[in-house]
Amino acid sequence: MENVVIIGSGCAGWTAAIYTARANLNPLVLTGWQAGGLLTTTTVVENFPGFAEGVDGTQLMVTMQRQAERFGARVSFQATVEKAELIGGPPFRLIHSTGIVETRTVIIAVGASHKHLGVPGEKELEGKGVTYCATCDGALPVFRNKPLVVVGGGDSACEEALFLTRFASEVFLVHRRDQLRASRIMAERALAHSKIRPVWNSVIEEIHDPAGDSVSAVSLRDVKTNLRTLLPCAGVFVAVGHVPNTAIFAGQVDLDPAGYVRIANSGTRTNIPGVFAAGDCADSTYRQAITAAAMGCMAAIDAERFLAAGH
Ligand code: NAP
Repeated sequence: MENVVIIGSGCAGWTAAIYTARANLNPLVLTGWQAGGLLTTTTVVENFPGFAEGVDGTQLMVTMQRQAERFGARVSFQATVEKAELIGGPPFRLIHSTGIVETRTVIIAVGASHKHLGVPGEKELEGKGVTYCATCDGALPVFRNKPLVVVGGGDSACEEALFLTRFASEVFLVHRRDQLRASRIMAERALAHSKIRPVWNSVIEEIHDPAGDSVSAVSLRDVKTNLRTLLPCAGVFVAVGHVPNTAIFAGQVDLDPAGYVRIANSGTRTNIPGVFAAGDCADSTYRQAITAAAMGCMAAIDAERFLAAGH
């Protein structure tokens, strides 16, 4: 019987592991298929306090992992929870890809995944020019000196567009409104770049061509005029936000209509005593590395107090 099982290994998961390990709770971290979470798909993290010059996203996550392990956290790499039996617990039962575990408390820190556009050609051409991670794929030879499209208007889209300027001949930033959602510093940086061309009030209707084996163009529609145009490009980088990775908890813990785990107004308690949630899977408002880390800390303290109360 475990004291604490932490599901997920992003900022929230590792911080919960550091705190519960230091509280001598001997936590077990089930990392999921992508150890380190979404931050490992970014480049430099510039706004995590303590790193004046910025820090590489993967490096930050590996450092957090080492810090958790230094205090005794146990880590099961690639263990992905397939079924969570939470109702009626504790004890809670987690069935994962490499075994079954029983535990007195659970910290859900499963993060979020990239949202898809849902247009023809997207699925068919994924990995053949359609991608959700510029830092993972941007340097591929097929994208060199070619026009590329980034979809979205948030921080991720600006970051991806800026990163791609290193390889692309030009980067079209396609956004459905005429104003970016991104933070001012990111928006200004993107719009000031000579290789980035914003395409305002526009949505992608199709990626060409679904039957082909590489991206050649996108069909755009101006949402104000309904005018349709074809924009030739070699790659489409989708950065339109995220969906929480909470499908396996549906029917077990309360989720909001968008799938985020509902937590108490103060703290990280879910509707099931002993089950706590932290980070992007439970936060549709802030969604920052530092707020995920803070929630991981809170979840660890909530779990520690729950156990100390004799549950
Ligand atoms: P986001 O802030 O939710 O932005 C998503 C963007 O995609 C929005 O501009 C949205 O348009 C657009 N969009 C959504 N669905 C769409 C669809 N079906 N078709 C076309 N466009 C669509 O997501 P994000 O940029 O991934 O950022 C997520 C969080 O991470 C944010 O809190 C952000 O601050 C943070 N983040 C921070 C940094 C950084 O600080 N360096 C970097 C990356 C991410 P609308 O604007 O019209 O809604």
